[in-house]
Amino acid sequence: SHMNKKDLRSPICCILGHVDTGKTKLLDKIRQTNVQGGEAGGITQQIGATYFPIDAIKAKTKVMAEYEKQTFDVPGLLVIDTPGHESFSNLRSRGSSLCNIAILVIDIMHGLEQQTIESIKLLRDRKAPFVVALNKIDRLYDWKAIPNNSFRDSFAKQSRAVQEEFQSRYSKIQLELAEQGLNSELYFQNKNMSKYVSIVPTSAVTGEGVPDLLWLLLELTQKRMSKQLMYLSHVEATILEVKVVEGFGTTIDVILSNGYLREGDRIVLCGMNGPIVTNIRALLTPQPLRELRLKSEYVHHKEVKAALGVKIAANDLEKAVSGSRLLVVGPEDDEDELMDDVMDDLTGLLDSVDTTGKGVVVQASTLGSLEALLDFLKDMKIPVMSIGLGPVYKRDVMKASTMLEKAPEYAVMLCFDVKVDKEAEQYAEQEGIKIFNADVIYHLFDSFTAYQEKLLE
Ligand code: GDP
Ligand code: MG
Repeated sequence: SHMNKKDLRSPICCILGHVDTGKTKLLDKIRQTNVQGGEAGGITQQIGATYFPIDAIKAKTKVMAEYEKQTFDVPGLLVIDTPGHESFSNLRSRGSSLCNIAILVIDIMHGLEQQTIESIKLLRDRKAPFVVALNKIDRLYDWKAIPNNSFRDSFAKQSRAVQEEFQSRYSKIQLELAEQGLNSELYFQNKNMSKYVSIVPTSAVTGEGVPDLLWLLLELTQKRMSKQLMYLSHVEATILEVKVVEGFGTTIDVILSNGYLREGDRIVLCGMNGPIVTNIRALLTPQPLRELRLKSEYVHHKEVKAALGVKIAANDLEKAVSGSRLLVVGPEDDEDELMDDVMDDLTGLLDSVDTTGKGVVVQASTLGSLEALLDFLKDMKIPVMSIGLGPVYKRDVMKASTMLEKAPEYAVMLCFDVKVDKEAEQYAEQEGIKIFNADVIYHLFDSFTAYQEKLLE
């Protein structure tokens, strides 16, 4: 595969941070268009992501011209729609860099919170470049909003008291970040982007600072990661979700971060019970908004090019593992080798599991979240005896029941964002096995440690 300096693909960005800091609202605001006419300035809803062509970004960052120059070397920006740890982990695991840059959202009124710290750890572990959106600046007392303005212009127009409140909250948060080992600086004062994290003050309500954020994302990815963005002919793709869709059977939602996918391509995926080899039957993206009254919800494609989010219909996708890679079998490739390769993503995680010893049973919705959970449990020195993906069934609970005699304090299941089958629930209750299920890792940890303490009493 050859690289081409001129042929850059769109960078991929995802968003994480503590609950209620404004991740969803910020995404909504970024997506909202203030471009007149046309298909929302060419902003398109994809599978699991929103695509911003460069013209839409140009329009949205126009107010930055007063302060900064911008070059536009990439065709656009792909922003992942689902906020949170999980989507980040899925797009950035196993040494890959499917997600090029992350936005860590911090509420300026609250400073660092538990999931902020968790996120920082995750970003650091995965060596992921990120920027901080210091959100909710409109909540500073007496803030006078100028919708969708650049932060610097809006800030200059605030009263002395507002500026002072900002300064004091900002300094406090800078200190809290320093306690986590992070040097930080307002992005326009940041002279050393590789040593200091850039902070962009934003409001997801007024849109102030959003142009700054987009400008910075583009600046950082184009200037500092152009090598990662050079277009490759080989495919890099990750499964975000496995979903049953009427008329298509089980489908997978995929982020294609490099290369092409074509109808009929032979693909290899990681499955719960072993590798899956199948052929792409259909490549689908959502209909543009104004076409919604059309019969089909989806547009079919013969071929798609990175970076984008796409739905794939094919046979035998039922057991596909979310968060794992998708490989395409090329003419030169050995299918068996690819099958081994793709299963390594899952089997690699088994290294952190001691199947003969004492430990808890862990179950998660995707490979990325399982990985993040295992990392966390390792740090907390909680041993793991068995791992699983997808819904919890009776047989999973049975694994945990082997601890009842060996080590009752570990006769539990720690589940991250999964469904628990009724029969499994009944069985667990009858056997006295506690199932903890949460979609925030530290909540899981907190309730588990509280339970252990109670048990020790
Ligand atoms: P998430 O949990 O991080 O996705 O947070 P949400 O986007 O759901 O926002 C949580 C709450 O904060 C909602 O009530 C939002 O309306 C509010 N919110 C989010 N961003 C801002 C902001 O910039 N300013 C103000 N005043 N409220 C915000
Ligand atoms: Mg949300």
